[in-house]
Amino acid sequence: MSIRKKLSIIILVLAILTVLTGTAIAAPISYWYSDSDNIGKWETSPKIWYSKIDPSGSFPMAVALGHAKLEWNDALGTSIAVTTNDTSAPIKFYGGTKAQIDALNLFAPVSTTTLGMTAYTDIRRKGVYTYGSSVKTWYTHHEINGYLVSRTDLSYNNFIKTATHEVGHAMGWRGHSSPANWVMTQGKIETITLSTEEKNHLHQIYVR
Ligand SMILES: [Zn+2]
Repeated sequence: MSIRKKLSIIILVLAILTVLTGTAIAAPISYWYSDSDNIGKWETSPKIWYSKIDPSGSFPMAVALGHAKLEWNDALGTSIAVTTNDTSAPIKFYGGTKAQIDALNLFAPVSTTTLGMTAYTDIRRKGVYTYGSSVKTWYTHHEINGYLVSRTDLSYNNFIKTATHEVGHAMGWRGHSSPANWVMTQGKIETITLSTEEKNHLHQIYVR
């Protein structure tokens, strides 16, 4: 094979590689504080319908979801609404004791250590972003079901934190953070306001 022919093959291969890698380059994002490589968002602000099955006054579900709504609307620039009568809302949260949640037969049995849960009933993979050398997959959210557990060992702020945590998952914050006093960290935590880092993590997806 002539030098000229070899060169033209090398140039052709380089051109193909450029096209292939060019299409594979995903937009970079600036923050990542989760142990998951997934993230999501709603394309229009969702409504949250809830059912407070446990009537106990020491289970502040309405106040907790109201607080969660304000925190995330402030963080994301959304206008989430909370309702008890619009059952067509795409996010639904049930609140009750382990026995009451289990009796719904909507979820896997609640463990005795569970504070709350978010089930990604309908989310759709849309693409990827890059954060440094890692690839993050993003989804649009369409339907979410979740619950908050009424437990006598939880403080008022534990309930508020749990609602804010679960609504965070519902809004697209997948996985968990690790600092001991952050809302998106798992556990019986008293913190009820999002850290700047937690806000940045999800906000960057909502502005794209
Ligand atoms: Zn969680």
